[in-house]
Amino acid sequence: DDAREEDWRTYYANIFNPARLKLKAMRSEMPMKRWRNLPEASLIPELTRSAQRRTEAMVAAEPTRSAKAEAIAYKTAADGDAQAVAAREREPLDLAEIAAALDGCRACPLWAGATQGVPGEGPRDAAIALVGEQPGDQEDLARRPFVGPAGQVLDRALAQAGLDRTQIFVTNAVKHFKNEPRGKRRLHKKPTAGEVEHCRWWVEREIAMVAPKLIVALGATAALSLLGHTGPLHEIRGRETVSRSGARVFTTVHPSYLLRVPDEAAKAREFRMFVDDLGRARELAGL
Ligand code: URA
Repeated sequence: DDAREEDWRTYYANIFNPARLKLKAMRSEMPMKRWRNLPEASLIPELTRSAQRRTEAMVAAEPTRSAKAEAIAYKTAADGDAQAVAAREREPLDLAEIAAALDGCRACPLWAGATQGVPGEGPRDAAIALVGEQPGDQEDLARRPFVGPAGQVLDRALAQAGLDRTQIFVTNAVKHFKNEPRGKRRLHKKPTAGEVEHCRWWVEREIAMVAPKLIVALGATAALSLLGHTGPLHEIRGRETVSRSGARVFTTVHPSYLLRVPDEAAKAREFRMFVDDLGRARELAGL
């Protein structure tokens, strides 16, 4: 025994990486018969036993930010908050004010992984408002809704349904792009019900300002936000219902669903059904 053994054990327990446990290598580097001379040997059984559980917890945990990133995020959050809170306190006057303020929203953590908030766009007197899920990678960079692959499907379908996108207000239920970095790519992650709820204030304000004759909910996230609908989408697809704030809502699928249909014939059929839904929405809006 010596006075530093306890220090050493503390150090060893802290640098031990459960995800890198290699008992065979440990035995070949130090024969077992010598382990009794190692102060840390008494810790190894427990560290080994708990390695799997600790590794799983590490995989499940959120990434830790560096102290510098934490400080920047804190400052940005404080600045952003002030602007968004001010907008929330006194009802925003117009769409431009909503657009400027939502970038600073810190009501949920999604802002931290996004480039910027993406506001809705379109005429203030639009007869139809389309509500999607959340900006994707391209929308996050461009600060415009539906400009990526799902937007191209939407544009094609709108044109075939006789609708002019420039006459429609297009927005999303969630304003920041929720994603998971994977190498150089950012993979879409579905927003949680809590995140949708936090963002509802913004989309409700946009809709109240435009006051469209009809809102078209594109997919389950929009239906959750506007209607509180949590069941399968087919229960309400193609039907007119009333939103939580009393507006008329027509529900259809999200255009990215069409991108995921694997079989070409089924894809074409689903696309035609989507166009039919948009045509029905046009009639309901009196266009
Ligand atoms: N998907 C959405 O729901 N909204 C967008 O703006 C883009 C893709």
